[in-house]
Amino acid sequence: MIIIIFFIVHWYASIFVQSFFYHRYTAHRHFFMSRNSEKFFYISSFIIHGSSYMSPYAYGVMHRLHHLHTDTKEDPHSPIDNQGFWATMWQTRNSYHRIFTGVTIFDDKLAKDLPRWEAFDRIAHTWPTRVGWIIVYLLFYIAFASAWWMFLFLPITVIMCTFQGTVINWWAHKYGYVSFPMKNTSKNIIPVDLFFVGDAYHNNHHKFPGRPNNSHFWFEIDLTYQVTRLLGKVKVIKWKNQ
Ligand SMILES: [Zn+2]
Ligand SMILES: [Zn+2]
Repeated sequence: MIIIIFFIVHWYASIFVQSFFYHRYTAHRHFFMSRNSEKFFYISSFIIHGSSYMSPYAYGVMHRLHHLHTDTKEDPHSPIDNQGFWATMWQTRNSYHRIFTGVTIFDDKLAKDLPRWEAFDRIAHTWPTRVGWIIVYLLFYIAFASAWWMFLFLPITVIMCTFQGTVINWWAHKYGYVSFPMKNTSKNIIPVDLFFVGDAYHNNHHKFPGRPNNSHFWFEIDLTYQVTRLLGKVKVIKWKNQ
């Protein structure tokens, strides 16, 4: 039971950090936060994503390239050639790696305002650190798993951040409903987004990338936006127009 609870808590903490900090703050700048808050969420991302930790800087560049070149050859991740889920994950991993290591050439404007903490990433973004996290997860599973099948969750735990990112970017360009017909393949994955805290409304998001609220119809619930509103009320973040 502890493993199931851990997996669920890890899933939601991980997707929230990805949606709130990486996607909406880092890549889209829907709102502002102080340097200290930024560092807090930077470190939180590392703790929550663990072995699948991504650099917010490289994520930000990759995501901005995705919006700029959606469904074209320059898109860092797109299932346009009808490629499967794992092929898209591999393509995303390679695109990310090329950006992180400086191989991909892009306009400096794409990196504007992206948080970058190279000293931190020199420790957080290394193989020994990732392997350390994997050992911690393994020991945790060995200590608390009460049935063999619970170990089936372990691979997802290890690649959590990458897995969730690919689920959204692959699925939401393949299956779902379209509220705003566009020249790209973006779709809203599910009408009531209980799993991706608001980032499932990917078609709405491609239509209005600058809008902090991804929901359009009354039944579309954008949990990240609601939490961000609360964080705005307690002054952790500041909206652009404030
Ligand atoms: Zn997209
Ligand atoms: Zn976006």
